[in-house]
Amino acid sequence: MTRRLEGRVAIVTGAAAGIGAAIARLYCVEGAYAVIADIDGTAAERAADAIGAQAMPMQLDVTNEADVQRTVAAARERFGRIDILVNNAGIMRKSYVVDMPEAMWRAVLDVNLTATFLCSKAVLPAMIEAKRGRIVNIASIAGKVGEPTASAYSAAKWGVIGFTRSLALEVARHNILVNAICPGPIPTALGEQGWREGALVEGVGLDKVMARVGSRAPLGRLGTVEQVAKMALFVASDDCDFTTGSAFNVDGGIVMT
Ligand code: NAP
Repeated sequence: MTRRLEGRVAIVTGAAAGIGAAIARLYCVEGAYAVIADIDGTAAERAADAIGAQAMPMQLDVTNEADVQRTVAAARERFGRIDILVNNAGIMRKSYVVDMPEAMWRAVLDVNLTATFLCSKAVLPAMIEAKRGRIVNIASIAGKVGEPTASAYSAAKWGVIGFTRSLALEVARHNILVNAICPGPIPTALGEQGWREGALVEGVGLDKVMARVGSRAPLGRLGTVEQVAKMALFVASDDCDFTTGSAFNVDGGIVMT
């Protein structure tokens, strides 16, 4: 059977854990080479080792433009091309606006939104030269529905969806497709930290928060990293050939509620 990303080169940010690691694994199963780019260099090496020779670990902070440019240059030098960028690295911090330190707001916007701009900007010259490319932005249903205590995260993810649409329009003439994915609740380090912080900020037990999270989706369950990875495979592959500027929900139907 033909593999859907045979020989393609992908940079996946925040790929040492969670959703990013699942995306990098699936891409490599489908024949891609993946740069496992993460702020935790040791964890990136572990994740790359688990995949094997198709994976290359890189330590970077996605909010640092020099780091981002260095990572893209290293990927081009090693593989000669960049076909796919997955802007996946993210952080979640919970606070009511009235209590939120400015530094928290800025950190959440920096990692989730500004870094999406920095990484996209860095790969575009290679993609424009190749006259093809795929940019996959991991947003969130928090970019489509509001949530108390998650205003910074929600604003950032809303921004990611807006950025996706504008960039898609800018680069369509270069045959570069830009799409976003909006996951619902997925039990990863980020998801679990968000639920713990949410319980603390609201002053309720974690069990109460988890009961609410678990019953929020019409499908009545949490999602998995693999479900998000399958959508990220679709938008990076030739199966997705006439779709750009879209934001696909992988959310169990939460957005409809
Ligand atoms: P995760 O398990 O915490 O993985 C995120 C990875 O990004 C971690 O390895 C993290 O490293 C890394 N990272 C954080 N800051 C970084 C930086 N400045 N530079 C480079 N790497 C950085 O989280 P996840 O749940 O898989 O989240 C992946 C994406 O999905 C995020 O954009 C998130 O907003 C989105 N999302 C998640 C959910 C959910 O419920 N899990 C729902 C909707 C959307 P450290 O662990 O060392 O910080």
